[in-house]
Amino acid sequence: MTQATLQTSTTAEELLAAVEAADNGRDILNPATGELVGRAPAHTVADLETAVQRAVDSQQGWGALSDEERCDRLMKAADAVEAAAEPLAQLLSREQGKPLNGPNARFEVGACSAWLRATASFELNEETLVDDGETHAVINYRPIGVVGAIGPWNWPMMITIWQIAPALRMGNAVVVKPSEYTPLSVLALVHVINTVLPDGVLNVVSGEGDVGAALSTHEAVGKIMFTGSTTTGKKIIEASAGTVKRLTLELGGNDAGIVLDDADPKAIAEDLFWGAFINTGQTCAALKRLYVPDAIYDEVCAALVEVAEQMPMGVGLEEQNVLGPLQNKAQFDIVDRLVNAAKASGARVLTSGEPDYDAPGYFYPTTLVADIDPDNPLVVEEQFGPALPIIRYTDLDEAIAQANALDVGLGSSVWSSDRDRAREVAARIQAGTVWINKHGGVDPRIPFGGIKGSGYGLEFGVEGLKALGVPQVISG
Ligand code: NDP
Repeated sequence: MTQATLQTSTTAEELLAAVEAADNGRDILNPATGELVGRAPAHTVADLETAVQRAVDSQQGWGALSDEERCDRLMKAADAVEAAAEPLAQLLSREQGKPLNGPNARFEVGACSAWLRATASFELNEETLVDDGETHAVINYRPIGVVGAIGPWNWPMMITIWQIAPALRMGNAVVVKPSEYTPLSVLALVHVINTVLPDGVLNVVSGEGDVGAALSTHEAVGKIMFTGSTTTGKKIIEASAGTVKRLTLELGGNDAGIVLDDADPKAIAEDLFWGAFINTGQTCAALKRLYVPDAIYDEVCAALVEVAEQMPMGVGLEEQNVLGPLQNKAQFDIVDRLVNAAKASGARVLTSGEPDYDAPGYFYPTTLVADIDPDNPLVVEEQFGPALPIIRYTDLDEAIAQANALDVGLGSSVWSSDRDRAREVAARIQAGTVWINKHGGVDPRIPFGGIKGSGYGLEFGVEGLKALGVPQVISG
C-alpha cells in the first residue's frame, strides 16, 4: 500500500488486509461482540531472528542520519498516522473494545501523532559538564543499536509510540512485540509508519510470550522498553542479566487519590470519574482507590454517582458510547472477583456491581463501592477495570500512610481548593507522579515513570530521549 492511498482512501478493512495473516493466523475477536476482527500472524522465534537481523542491518544507516533528518521522518510519520486516523481508530476499537469517542480510540490515535511530533521537537544537545580551564568534559547520547519494544493490550497503539518514537529519534532500530490480545492494531500502526521510514528500521513480530522472552534475552538487542504486568517485568529483569540490557519498565500500579476536606465535590466529580474510568479503568496510571474525608464523603459519593449515571457503556463502534468492555475474559474475571470480595465484606455498592454474565461481550458495568475497608482486596489489588473503591478517612496522616502502604508507586493525585496545601500533601506520597486536581494527565513534555514495584526508568521529554541513548562522556 502506498502512502498516497493511505492519505486518501484507506479503510480499516484495507489496513487489516495489509497486515493480516495469509494463513495459519490466530483469530482475534471483538471483546464487545465476540465477532471476528481478523487473523493475526502467528510469528515465531525464527521470525523474531529475521526481524532482529533486519534491524541490525538497517540501524547503521539510520543512526548515521542527522538528528534533523530523523526528526523530519518522525514528523512525516505523524502526518501518515493522521491521514489514516479514522481507519486506525476503527480497527483499534474493534480489536481492543474501546469506544471511538470519549478518551478512547480516536483520542488514542490522536495521541500517537501528537507524541511523534513532540518527540521530534525536544532539543537534546551536547552538554558541557565541566569547563574550568583544566578539564573540558561533555556528555552526548549515542544510539544503543537495536531496541525491543514489548507492549500491553490496554493502549496498544499509544504505548507502542511511547516506546518507539524516542528510540527512533535517538538513532536506534526497533523490534516491536505487541500483546497477543491486540496485535492487529499495532501491526496496522507500524504498517502506516513504515510508509515513511527506511526498510528494516521499524519491525514488528506478532508472536506470543515466548517471542517476548526471546527478544529480552537476544544478544543483539541493547535495550527493552516494557509496559505490562509486574510479574512479566520481573521475568524481563532476570532475562536481561545475561546480556546486561538496559531496561525501562512501566509495570502498572494501584494509584491512590486523596481528596482533602476543602475540595468542592461537584467541581471535581467529573475529573475524578475520568481519572478512574478512562479506557474503562484499564489504564496503568488510572485512579484505582479514592480516599475521601468523612466531612465531605457523602457529597463526593453522590457527585460521582451522578456523573457515572450519565456515561453510556456499549459496543465501541456505536458513536454514543464512552465506556466499553474489558478487553479479555481474564481481566473480566479479575474485576468480578474483586467486586465480589468487596460485596462479601459488607461494603456498600453505590452503582451496579451486577454484570450480565449471559450477555455478549466482557462488559462490567460502572461500579462505585463505598464504605469499604482499607485492606479489602478491591483496594489493595489492582482491579484494572471499571470498579472504584471509595475509602472513608478521618485522619489525613492515616490516609497518606494507607496510600503509601502498597509495594507499587506509579501515579497518584491530591484534590483540593488550596494548591499549596495539595502540594505539601503531594510531597509526602510515594509515587513517580502526583497530579493535583487531575489524575493520569500524561504529557509528552513531562517525564513519567514509576517507583517501587511500578518499575524504573523515565519516559517522555528530554529525560525520555536520554533513556534511549548510551551516554558517552568525553573528558580531556
Ligand atoms: P503481561 O505482562 O503478561 O503482558 C505484557 C506483554 O509482555 C505482552 O506483549 C506479552 O506477550 C509479553 N510477555 C509475556 N511474557 C513475556 C516474557 N516472559 N518475556 C517478555 N515478554 C513477555 O500483561 P497481561 O497482558 O497478561 O496483563 C496482566 C496484568 O498486567 C493485567 O491484569 C494488569 O493488571 C497488568 N497490565 C498493566 C498494564 C500497564 O499499562 N502497566 C497493561 C496491561 C496489563 P503476550 O501477550 O503474547 O503474552
